[in-house]
Amino acid sequence: MKALIVYFNISFAIGALVSLLSGAYVLYHNAKQKVNQFWAIVTIFGSFWGLSYLAMINTSSNEIAFIANRSLHIFAIITLASFFIFALYLTNQFLFHKKAAYLVVFLGVLLITLISFTDLILQGTISGDVFSHIPVGGNLFWLFSSYLISITFAGCYFMYSKVHDGSTAKHHLNQIRYVLLFSAVGWIGGGSTLLLTHGIDILPYPIILWAFYPFFATYAIVKLNLFNTKAVTAEILTAFLWVFLAVRLILSSSTADLIINGVVLALMIPAGILLIRGITKEVKAREKAEELTKELQEANQELKYMDKQKSKMLSIASHQFRSPLTSIEGYASMMKEGTYGEVPEHLEKPINRIFKSSKQLSHIVDDFLNISRIEQDRMEYDFKTANIQEIVENVIEEITPTAHDKGLEIEKTFDGNGPYKARVDVDKFTQVITNLIDNAIKYTQEGKIIVHLTHEDDTITVAVEDSGIGIDPEDKDKIFEQFSRADEAEDADVVGSGLGLYIAKQIVQAHDGEIWATSPGKGKGSTFHVKIPAGISDGE
Ligand code: ADP
Repeated sequence: MKALIVYFNISFAIGALVSLLSGAYVLYHNAKQKVNQFWAIVTIFGSFWGLSYLAMINTSSNEIAFIANRSLHIFAIITLASFFIFALYLTNQFLFHKKAAYLVVFLGVLLITLISFTDLILQGTISGDVFSHIPVGGNLFWLFSSYLISITFAGCYFMYSKVHDGSTAKHHLNQIRYVLLFSAVGWIGGGSTLLLTHGIDILPYPIILWAFYPFFATYAIVKLNLFNTKAVTAEILTAFLWVFLAVRLILSSSTADLIINGVVLALMIPAGILLIRGITKEVKAREKAEELTKELQEANQELKYMDKQKSKMLSIASHQFRSPLTSIEGYASMMKEGTYGEVPEHLEKPINRIFKSSKQLSHIVDDFLNISRIEQDRMEYDFKTANIQEIVENVIEEITPTAHDKGLEIEKTFDGNGPYKARVDVDKFTQVITNLIDNAIKYTQEGKIIVHLTHEDDTITVAVEDSGIGIDPEDKDKIFEQFSRADEAEDADVVGSGLGLYIAKQIVQAHDGEIWATSPGKGKGSTFHVKIPAGISDGE
């Protein structure tokens, strides 16, 4: 008899302590999460239940037994109703079963009222052989039992179904699995106390299962969800060390022992706290970093997607512009040339304007089309061995009238180190040189433009030098980026999209070449260099 009551007392006492610690521990780690809050209610009221049971089975006073009996049944309701809600939160199903949760709370309140003010659920207590007092259920005690059993089953069922419906991430799944397993075992322990109250003379032997249930469940919640093993292990070990040292201190046999044990404990407490803090900090920092990396990856993916969409849009829009522009340009050109009869003098200027503007717009549309081709990796090259001198001379010839319109001269200096042969896509390379000379004209008000051609060390370099607005050293690299224009360009009131040099750079790079700008500074002119490998290959 004596051994039995010791067993029950120890089980209830350990259970109450473990429960209380478990609630506090989870709250300490993260009191903001609903799962943790409800777990804390489950364990803290579970602890009160254990303590009340302990009081009831040990007290010799009938009044205390009466109060303890009622309290323990009320605490049981609060504990298990919270367990039900905890299970809903743990499995992310609270929103779907909100009404069920309200019903559980409502029925719980009803039962608590019946327990507090009537003897329908609980009649009182009688004395027993092992326990000093045993609860006696009332006529409606079955209501209480059915309520507790069904919400416990429902809570476990929610976890069970979540484990099996395949919709849960792996680590969360493991967490639910463990909590489910420990809950099922733990509640068998706690539920075994129902038999006595139903008048069945079987003591709650499995109660020890309840005692350790919160410990394992807490481990599952904390380890698998919020913190990693390292932090939890450090905390548990430190706690054990402290308890061990405290026990030694209490059991000290001499004053010297007492002092030594006291000093060791006093040193170990701050050391332990520092250790735990350090590890927790490290874990938190790593978790934060992981979270940020994930966010960045997601944002990056989204950006890539949006960029693709933009390129697609650009390509579609540009294609739509292309044909109307070609006819505007074509008809304006024919009008200019007198295909539709002689052009009256007063219409010459407007027609010229239409022709020029549509040409400008055509260029921009071409740039857009090129950009979308580059971005979608659809730019195709047709490499052939060609004479760069020829290309440069053709461009100069073509563009000289525009320069003359502005009162500018274009000179050429070739180093005489020909032939200037290289493998290029003639159209695209022509586009690059045209763009550079075009820019030189655009950004130069007076002076001249010199095109240099040099051939040295297996490379050919075309350099376009002008006496224009120059480039700020800070902008030298930036101007090769998409839509990038220097402030001077804006100030000089020259129209442009900021795409030409970006496209030129992509084309030159596809030729295994380099493009760069040099300038002595603002207002002092600039030179754009294009360097590509020289040579003939493939037997040409
Ligand atoms: P756009 O000329 O249409 O603005 P580009 O990509 O061809 O676009 O040029 C980008 C920027 O580089 C220009 O806006 C201008 O600021 C600068 N730039 C280009 N060529 C010259 C030049 N010859 N002299 C000075 N600045 C230039």
